Amino acid sequence: MYIYLVTFGNIEKRLLFGIAKNVKETFGFEVRLSSVASPLKHAYDHERKQYVGEKILDYLSTLNYPELLKILALISWDMYAEGFNFVFGLAKIQGREAVVSTFRLFSRDERLFFERVFKEVNHELGHTFGLGHCPDRRCVMSFSNSIDDTDHKSKNFCTSCKTKLKTAIAELTF
Ligand SMILES: [Zn+2]
Ligand SMILES: [Zn+2]
Repeated sequence: MYIYLVTFGNIEKRLLFGIAKNVKETFGFEVRLSSVASPLKHAYDHERKQYVGEKILDYLSTLNYPELLKILALISWDMYAEGFNFVFGLAKIQGREAVVSTFRLFSRDERLFFERVFKEVNHELGHTFGLGHCPDRRCVMSFSNSIDDTDHKSKNFCTSCKTKLKTAIAELTF
């Protein structure tokens, strides 16, 4: 089983390889990188000049690859979801699809920028494994309302979330 990464927009290779390594370490699954031809035109909101997270998830649900476990899209443009001015990411809870926008995570400090993306990727993939938001502000599953929230949390799961994640993964593989 693989976690597939697809990219839209300008996502540098170094970041992708970093994500692949981080996902493997965190979730134990190999990552496959895949390119998608669609320019995602239908998922763009021209009035708000942002992509619509739900529409990207819907598009991802139409894709299929060999031994696909989860599919995560990375987009370099700004994104929102219903009820929010913007979102860093969105996922189907206990589902297959997730998306992270790097737009508001960007920093000239590459280490900081990559670290933020790893956190949001872990967070959204956590949702796909059935995890909800966590009250522990250091836990990667705590909700980020701002970039300060993202910077405050770690990229790791708290003990309680880690247990839930392990159980969810064990149920999948056995
Ligand atoms: Zn969340
Ligand atoms: Zn937690």
